[in-house]
Amino acid sequence: MDHRSRLKKFEQALIERELDGFVVTHPANLRYLCGYTGSNGLLLCLTSQRIFFTDRRYTQQAHEEVQGAQVVVTKGPLIKDAARRIGSLKPGTVGFETDYMTVAFTEEMRKLVPGKIEWKGTSGLVMRQRMIKDNEELRAITDAVKVGAAAYKDALSAVGSGVRESEVAGRLEYAARQAGADGMSFETIVAAGKRSALPHGRASNQPMPSRGFVVIDSGVILRGYCSDMTRTVHLGRVSREKDRWYKAVLEAQLAAIAAVAPGKTASEVDQAARQALRKYGLARYFTHSTGHGVGLEIHEPPRLAKSQLERLEPGMVITIEPGIYLPGRGGIRIEDMVVVTDRGAQVLTPVTKELVQV
Ligand code: ZN
Ligand code: ZN
Repeated sequence: MDHRSRLKKFEQALIERELDGFVVTHPANLRYLCGYTGSNGLLLCLTSQRIFFTDRRYTQQAHEEVQGAQVVVTKGPLIKDAARRIGSLKPGTVGFETDYMTVAFTEEMRKLVPGKIEWKGTSGLVMRQRMIKDNEELRAITDAVKVGAAAYKDALSAVGSGVRESEVAGRLEYAARQAGADGMSFETIVAAGKRSALPHGRASNQPMPSRGFVVIDSGVILRGYCSDMTRTVHLGRVSREKDRWYKAVLEAQLAAIAAVAPGKTASEVDQAARQALRKYGLARYFTHSTGHGVGLEIHEPPRLAKSQLERLEPGMVITIEPGIYLPGRGGIRIEDMVVVTDRGAQVLTPVTKELVQV
């Protein structure tokens, strides 16, 4: 990954905001900007230099991973050494991430560097940059999606009446690990029969019934990047009514994908999915947002929901995942990952969306 270019770009954003320095501590932001994958780290970006602080547990790792910044291993709290460096600045403004830093941390910073430095809390500054994926990131994400899809296909062959949901989840996670995944991007969801009406039904010990929908929502982490996909299959023959539900969700999902284009708002994409479900009289059962950004973290901006006026831009990677949940009866969700391109949407998830009956 080209961390030096990312750091340069980030520093340009600092200059535009008239910041003389910036403190980064959120792990995903550290990984994004300088390549560090450990836990305790602090990156200080100053106009003249960049310093990465960590403690002795991460000495070797930091030297191996960190790019574009000088590594300083500290004995005490990182914040103290960082404060000393900041204190040597001429009077200026130093930004920090309000989204991730505790009040205690910022109070400590203020106490350690009194007077001449003005602290400025900012929100989403690194995230703004992370939202637009560069080519290396798109490659990593595409690979993660492929591994996730293969693991899903493997697990699908285990789905059957009487099989426990946890067995299917275990199969999926084992296949992902065997294919080289660093781990899962969230706890695998396998929800069969009535449980499919739970939008977040983690795999339970329940055996699957002989008939009904099975929602499988899973994601892997590969080279730090997350994947996320959902398919809904049906145990036994599907009734005409439930087939109609499935068609409605699929139509909603395709409508939302078709609505993806640069300049469109997140809300417009969300509305496209709801509009399609309205035609079937099923919109009231769609109880969550249409999608979210994905990258180093499983849930990133933009959020594709009603009030979100964020405009889509080429290079964003988002999920499109409408679903309906009818309490006591069952639920359906279909989720793909897509890249926003100059022309519209490129679907990454290589798995059929025709209703599979097993
Ligand atoms: Zn998902
Ligand atoms: Zn998702």
